[in-house]
Amino acid sequence: MDTTTQPSPLEHNERGAGRYAPSPSGDLHFGNLRTAVLAWLFARRTGRRFYLRVEDIDTQRSSVESARRQIEDLAALGLDFDGEPTYQSDNTSAYEAALRALTDRGHVFECYCSRKDIQEAARAPHAIPGRYPGTCRDLPDGERERRRRELMAQGRVPALRLRAEARRWRVRDGFLGDYSGEVDDFILRRGGQQPDWAYNLAVVVDDAAAGIDQVVRGDDLASSAPRQAYLAHLLGLPAPGYVHVPLVLGPEGRRLAKRDGAVTLRQMRADAPVAQVVSRLAASVGVEGCDSLAGLLEEFEPGAVPREGWVWK
Ligand code: GLU
Repeated sequence: MDTTTQPSPLEHNERGAGRYAPSPSGDLHFGNLRTAVLAWLFARRTGRRFYLRVEDIDTQRSSVESARRQIEDLAALGLDFDGEPTYQSDNTSAYEAALRALTDRGHVFECYCSRKDIQEAARAPHAIPGRYPGTCRDLPDGERERRRRELMAQGRVPALRLRAEARRWRVRDGFLGDYSGEVDDFILRRGGQQPDWAYNLAVVVDDAAAGIDQVVRGDDLASSAPRQAYLAHLLGLPAPGYVHVPLVLGPEGRRLAKRDGAVTLRQMRADAPVAQVVSRLAASVGVEGCDSLAGLLEEFEPGAVPREGWVWK
């Protein structure tokens, strides 16, 4: 895979766009807000449009109320977006079309495994940790029929997985450089009683439909980028350039979480004006003594963003 054909996320592109894509499963905390601000800074300083997409396909964890509060918080911080927020739950026909295109080309198979089946297979001596072991990839039709009926009798449907032909894929990342990672037979649509669309499929379809050519997000998602770029390739869609930014860490060195104290914007605003929160966010991306987003945009330098996790204090 030649990454030079992928857009450079750090270069100016007035026809391009960036985005922030939170999952509405709780209030945004300092780490989420910092990623949102970084995504906004990268987009705006390179002349790109900037969109807000609510990633609410996980019906168990998403809520309308949480989306509303997140949008309110981003506005309170002063971030501006182009157009209205979009919701993944409104876009399921596009996911269906993508799934159909993949199915027509033989890139999809049904998987009947439970989480436990996969964990057990992954303990086999030659298994690669975290990788789908391929249990259902090459089952004979009769066996598929039997396993499908078994699930249906329990009111469940099989998961749908990608039949990946590549083992690795390379992406272009403004921070990590040319980044190559593993591709496996990842899930496209979840199974069970609630067949939700899977994150990787939805992200790829939505980013391409919105003309997103710059994806700035936390580096916990870096290992998803090769899968997503490979899926874009199979669908004949352009892959974006990425900037995976280090996360904010809590006092114990783990990813910042709500248990680490008054970390949500709402909690912080109870003690301090928004300008003070902006000033902490600015310091965390390498700009001291700046308490407005407009000022931050002027002074921001990608090279000054700490490349290690930033510890919340
Ligand atoms: N919705 C994901 C999250 O909140 C982010 C997905 C992405 O930026 O690609 O972690």
